[in-house]
Formats: sequence, C-alpha cells, structure tokens
Amino acid sequence: MLKNIVNRGCIKIMKKVIRIFFVILIVFSLTLSGCRRNEEKKSNENRNDYEQNQTENAIYENDLTIKERNDEEDNNKNNEQNEITNEEIMNGQDKEEGSKEETEQEKGHKSEYDSVHEIDLEKVKPNESGKIMIVMFHNFVESFTPTKYDKGEYTMTFKAFEELLHVLYEKGYRLISFKDFLDNNISVPAGCIPMVFTFDDGTSGQFNLIEENGELKVNKKSAVGILLEFNKKYPDFGAKGMFFVNLGTNVFNGKGSVAERLKYLIDLGFEIGNHTYSHINLSEVKSADIIQREIGNNQKVMYELVPGYKMFAFSLPYGAPSGTLMEHVKRGEYEGVEYENLAIVEVGWNPSPPAISREFNASSINRVRSPGINPERFDLYWWLENLSRGEQYISDGNANKITIPKAKIDLIDMEKLGNKKLVTY
Ligand SMILES: [Zn+2]
Repeated sequence: MLKNIVNRGCIKIMKKVIRIFFVILIVFSLTLSGCRRNEEKKSNENRNDYEQNQTENAIYENDLTIKERNDEEDNNKNNEQNEITNEEIMNGQDKEEGSKEETEQEKGHKSEYDSVHEIDLEKVKPNESGKIMIVMFHNFVESFTPTKYDKGEYTMTFKAFEELLHVLYEKGYRLISFKDFLDNNISVPAGCIPMVFTFDDGTSGQFNLIEENGELKVNKKSAVGILLEFNKKYPDFGAKGMFFVNLGTNVFNGKGSVAERLKYLIDLGFEIGNHTYSHINLSEVKSADIIQREIGNNQKVMYELVPGYKMFAFSLPYGAPSGTLMEHVKRGEYEGVEYENLAIVEVGWNPSPPAISREFNASSINRVRSPGINPERFDLYWWLENLSRGEQYISDGNANKITIPKAKIDLIDMEKLGNKKLVTY
C-alpha cells in the first residue's frame, strides 16, 4: 500500500519535472528562433544596406562618369571655342589638315600653344626674318600752315594721324611694344606685320591730360587719345608705344604734374625712354662726364618722378651719334644713379631688321619717319608703297616659334633663339 503511494507520488513528480522541462525547452527554442530571426533580419538589413550602398556607389560612379564625361565634353567645347577664337584671330586661315587626325595621346604631348597655333604655311607665308618698321613721331597739331622755316616735316595733324591708323590696320599692321621688339617676343596674329610706334621729345600733341569734373583724363585731341579711341573699335591693333623724353624740358604740357603725366602713360601700358635731360646734341659733346650727366640725370629725375622706373632704351637727339664716346651713351653713372641703354634708336630712314636677325644692331636701330604735312621720300607712306610684303616680317602667330622660309635661314642669329623653336619651310 505504502509502496503504491510512494510510486504514485514519484510518477506525479516525474510528470511535473517532464512538463517543466518541456516548457523550458519550448521557451528556449522560441527565444533561440527569435534571436536567429533577428540575426537574419539584421543580416538582411546589413545586406540590404550593403546592396543599397553598392547601388548608391554605382550611381555615384555613374554620376562621376557622367560628370567626367560632361567635363570632358565641356573641355572639348572649350578647346573648340579656343580653336574657333584662334581661327578667327588668324583671319580665317585654315589650320593644317593633319592636326585634325591627331590622336588624343599625340595632343597630350604637344603644348596647348602649339596645337592651337598651327597655320597653313603656304597660305600665310610667315617670314620672321623680315623687316619691321619702327615709326618715329614728333609733333601733332589740329592744323598747320607751313612756313619758310618749318615745312611741317615732323608734324602731323590729328586727322592725318587717325587716317594713318586706319591705313595701317587695313594693311595688316599691328602694334607691339618696344620691349617686345627688342626681346623678339612678337605676338601678333598670323599673317599680320608687327610695327612699333616711338614718339620723341614729349610734345603735348603726343599726349596731354585734361581735367574733367576734377579728374585727370587723356585729351582726345592728342595722339594717345586718338590711338585709345581707335583701339576701342579695333582692339587687336594694340595701344602701344615708346615715348623718348627730356625731363629737363617741358614734358606733355597740360594738366597734372609731370609725375602724374608719366604715371598715367605707364599705367596705360606705354613705355618711357631716355632722350637726354636737355635734348643735347651728343656729336658736339667732347666729355664723357657731360654725356653721363645728360643721360644719368634724366634717369635720376625719372626715379624721383616714378620710383623704380628704369629706362632701357635711348633715342639720339637729332639722331647725332657721339663717336668715340658711344660707350658712355650705352652705360654710365651720374650722382650714384646707374643707367644702361640696351637699345639705341636713330632718326632715320629705314625699316629695321628684327632683333633675331644677324643684321640687327641694338646700338643703332633704324627708324622710319612718320608722314609729315607734305609727303617726303622715305617717310612712312613712302615705305608703305615701296616695301614689299616679301621684305617684311610676317608673323606666324606664335611668339614661341620663329618661322621663316628655308632660304632665309642665314639671316637668323641662332644664339638669340633662346628657347624659341625655329621652323623652316
Ligand atoms: Zn628729339
């Protein structure tokens, strides 16, 4: 009996234990499966995130590709525009056909400058060993009546100057600075002919300032005023020129101080050169000291008026050389101020070889006289009639290349080439 009771009790306990075990098992397995599901969910989420990232990256990369492609297209467009602009500058001259067939790699090896400046040599016929006219101007006036003493040989009317600019522009002349002429750094469009303007004596017809509402302005009735107006209509002509001044005399009479006048000209991009302090005739000077005083003092006063402005070119007053004392014209010193004239210009009468030519002599640079009131032999209009295109400097449109017909090779001074490329055809 007792045994039965114990057995029944044991069975009950056993049943309870088993039930509890199952409950725990179910709860555990439920929990476990929940975690796994969460993990799966998490992993799915991660995968989704990853996939999404991948997609986003792909989209981003696509964007980049599209952007890069767009950039490339833009660049191409810009290049095309550059080419169009340069083509326009070249006055519609054809580019070499071969250049269009170049591969991208080939283009990469060439500098941008080379690739946009190719010209049809046979059509343009550049000759960068040819003559350049450095024009010498003196006086400009509203009207002029010749007298027994002054026939107006060195004088032009404002109207005649303006007409001259039109003639020069039509004939393909373009202005370069004296410095660029001297450095053979000539940058005019292909087929054009460079020209240098020089003005002696600092006369007010060349340049003077007027006052308008308390402001200093260039008088439009002056050569500079006319040139600036002309350049507004024809910007590729260039508003450049060298003014040889005597600072011991009246310089550009008009409004403003001499310092203001000089600074105004320099700020406009014009150049100032030395012409002695008092316009002395150097052929009559027998002393090196006087030459140094005349040239050195002019530079000294220049420093006082425009601090730091060093004149590098010299115009012989009256075109008179100083014989054996020429070395003192080139360089010297006065009251602690040193001067050096890298270029010395004469008064007449011929076009000049370019600086790259063996025939060029920086100490004796020829100039062509401006037209006067009456036509004269060897004045600018005479040369425009008598100097053939074949004798003149015809630009290849690229300042880094010197392009000449093969037959002209002996004219080139190879030592002056520097890092410029010589091209013959
Ligand atoms: Zn003079």
